[in-house]
Amino acid sequence: MRVSSQKLLGVMKRSLTPNRPYHAQWLLTRRCNYRCRGCNVWTDQLHAEEVSTDEVKRGLDVLRKLGVVEIVLSGGNPLLRSDIDEIIDYASRFFVTTVYDNGSMAIEKIDALRKADFVAISLDTLDEEKFDYIRGVRGAWKTAMQALETLHDEGIQVGVSPTISQLNLYEIIDFTKHFIDRGIPVWYCLYAYDYPTENPLFAIGKKRDEFEIVDTEAMAKVCDTLIEMKNEHEGIYITTKTLLALKHLFQNNQRTWTCKALQAFFMIDHLGRVAGCHRKEPVASIFELPEVWDSQRLQSLRQKYSECTQCSYLCYIFYSIHSDVKSNLGILRDQWKNIKLLLAERHDTKS
Ligand code: SF4
Ligand code: SF4
Repeated sequence: MRVSSQKLLGVMKRSLTPNRPYHAQWLLTRRCNYRCRGCNVWTDQLHAEEVSTDEVKRGLDVLRKLGVVEIVLSGGNPLLRSDIDEIIDYASRFFVTTVYDNGSMAIEKIDALRKADFVAISLDTLDEEKFDYIRGVRGAWKTAMQALETLHDEGIQVGVSPTISQLNLYEIIDFTKHFIDRGIPVWYCLYAYDYPTENPLFAIGKKRDEFEIVDTEAMAKVCDTLIEMKNEHEGIYITTKTLLALKHLFQNNQRTWTCKALQAFFMIDHLGRVAGCHRKEPVASIFELPEVWDSQRLQSLRQKYSECTQCSYLCYIFYSIHSDVKSNLGILRDQWKNIKLLLAERHDTKS
């Protein structure tokens, strides 16, 4: 992994510039080789068309100028793109770059992944049978575990990313302990179903009652326990502020944040279309974004989205909570133990 001083300076400068969109997720492809039960993406594999490598690079230039600090490359499975090596290489020069994999391709694409700042392997449970059931693919658990182990042994900053749902709720603390004890950090997603909206960018979550969290008290308890564990352990990549907001949501069915879609974050799809989040309509192509960013039309949409309560995807909650300079500094404070560890590992890798 290479972290140039130019990148560090750029990231710090953009983090401390007010009123910028700090986070962007680029779903580089709709293609996926898995068949997860809680996901809609694989049911819709007809969209072979994708932005080209050069367009992705031009798009990344646009994001940098807009002030984006962190980019998440996902899909579908982004590692299915034959140009993923070039894309990660380019993105990681300027952004804190995270790449998602369902565990099936990470070993094959390990050289490309060395350039990313973080690699997230989706894995929801230590129960092999349950995981293969969730993924809809036999052998998915073994492959994901092997990917985690191999990347970790190779010194790549790999983390495990479980989607918390009713199916794994009671084991999420033991799951977290299992990985942090082995030096593999954990960051979380939350199962959510996409209720139909008008003209969405695309759909991800599929309605599955077995995933819907019904034991809200247990979920609130998970938040409390993770907050306690964070005081003692490194490797839990979720801020206390986010956990408190989540706890309040499950305990009181109330939001303590306002959504910052199209302000602090936005999504880009495989065609280069931009939307506040994947459930909202596309507002521009990535190349048009600088022209329209300050327009009245986008200001009105921001206002509308700030009142929206239609989803509880954890990344959107996190991005909404950490949406200004003060809360960017808050991430530094909250995650200081983990950041120190990362910097030390990078130093070790270099020496
Ligand atoms: S959850 Fe991820 S890995 Fe599973 S089908 Fe959807 S895009 Fe593919
Ligand atoms: S709450 Fe925000 S992220 Fe969720 S659907 Fe509404 S605008 Fe999108």
